[in-house]
Amino acid sequence: MKVEFGLLDIEMKDYNNYNKPDLNSARKRLNKETATIYYESNPLYKDLGKGKTYHILTYGCQGNEADSEVMAGIFEELGYKYQENVEEADVVLLNTCAIRENAENRIWGVLGNLKAPKRMKKDMIIGICGCMPQEEKVVDTLLQKYREIDLVFGTHNIYKLPEFLHEIYKHHDRVVEVLSYEGSIIEALPKIRASKHKAWVNIMYGCDEFCTYCIVPYTRGKERSRNKDDIIAEVKCLVKEGYKEVTLLGQNVNAYGKDLEGDYTFGDLLYDLDKTGIQRIRYTTSHPRDLDMKTIYAMRDCKSVMPSLHLPVQSGDDVVLKRMNRKYTFDEYMAKIKALKENIPGISLTTDIIVAFPGETEEQFLNTLKLVQEVGYEGAFTFIYSPREGTPAAKYPNPMTEEEKHDRLNRLNVLINEGYKKGHDRFLGKEVLVLVDGYSKTNKELMTGYSEHNKVVNFIPKNAKIGDIVKVKITEAKTWFMNGEEVD
Ligand code: SF4
Repeated sequence: MKVEFGLLDIEMKDYNNYNKPDLNSARKRLNKETATIYYESNPLYKDLGKGKTYHILTYGCQGNEADSEVMAGIFEELGYKYQENVEEADVVLLNTCAIRENAENRIWGVLGNLKAPKRMKKDMIIGICGCMPQEEKVVDTLLQKYREIDLVFGTHNIYKLPEFLHEIYKHHDRVVEVLSYEGSIIEALPKIRASKHKAWVNIMYGCDEFCTYCIVPYTRGKERSRNKDDIIAEVKCLVKEGYKEVTLLGQNVNAYGKDLEGDYTFGDLLYDLDKTGIQRIRYTTSHPRDLDMKTIYAMRDCKSVMPSLHLPVQSGDDVVLKRMNRKYTFDEYMAKIKALKENIPGISLTTDIIVAFPGETEEQFLNTLKLVQEVGYEGAFTFIYSPREGTPAAKYPNPMTEEEKHDRLNRLNVLINEGYKKGHDRFLGKEVLVLVDGYSKTNKELMTGYSEHNKVVNFIPKNAKIGDIVKVKITEAKTWFMNGEEVD
């Protein structure tokens, strides 16, 4: 068997010999140092995409959006041009999400829809990447049932996209390479950022929490933090380019630094980034257990760190939290909420909640409703539990009927929607600062953007331009957004 650039020689056409994922390997957390690789463009692939086009379809979290910006950067470096119409693109990549079954079903539907354009345009390359290919079952299905897929790769080897494309053009056959390991850090990757004023900045990758319902620790590798100097340099560069806001990304940003030598933590990073001159800092996602006082003090002390926080709770019941392996209790979570509210008055809190986790009783569900009322969330992503193959919770018995599950979700959503409305009502008649994203999709005379508390604000502009931070007086509070007018 011949191996080139880590790829198996695909002329053999033996599906068993592709580099396929392996959940057992993905589960391991070896105590070895994370390798940092500095990306360099290979002159061999320089004009690979000359005269060709690409289109990337992105699903799931902000991490995927950031990865897609890297892939766009690689395409353009290779000479490809962006093609808006997916059916006309020479290369179509689906950057996928595996967090819930619904998300996966959607991808299977999109793949089905791409069959016809591929028949019309034989040399079109269709690739699938992101979290879904990190699952064994998914790759088996792709290989057996989706002959139109030319390229399958995962979350660890995006930087090898030029090699993969080169191999496909050379062999006119499929390339499959999904790595299942703890992962490394790749620096200096090219990026085409979707916005000119707001940027994603990865600060760490992977997750070591192993919540029993979650596939992410298997698809994204172990927790590994970028060097702080690389992060600070990236943000300084963004400031120079005129960016106003950065969102620091990681599966569990509060664990930043735990894997590095020394005692530099996420809170320290916030203090340092505040000095770069960036006007707005947000971060996601947080794990309540790892949210520490230094981070809360940094939110209090640093003008650039915005007064809103998404702090996933998942359940308000201690027994369910334990079975989810969340490693905190109702009381511990509420203590952090208290500290946040005391130190950052007016903070806007949002969360994620799973209902109908296997074995959740009515009483346990009511504890979640109680917690929602006590915290006073101003928004939440709420879900019915969705089993993910290979995770411990997928084996837990769940006798609840679909009707009961939906009933719980509906009852929860009534409370959450009230929270959204209250979160907007409190700004009625007040002036808020809005970072302008663009014009409203439904009314071209209005502009739209986000306030410091992360609320959508539509407003009548005076002098505002996209990328400006302007003062807006709130004149109307709706459930999902606020309306207002720009003031001098
Ligand atoms: S903290 Fe839990 S829910 Fe979040 S990515 Fe890690 S395992 Fe998944």
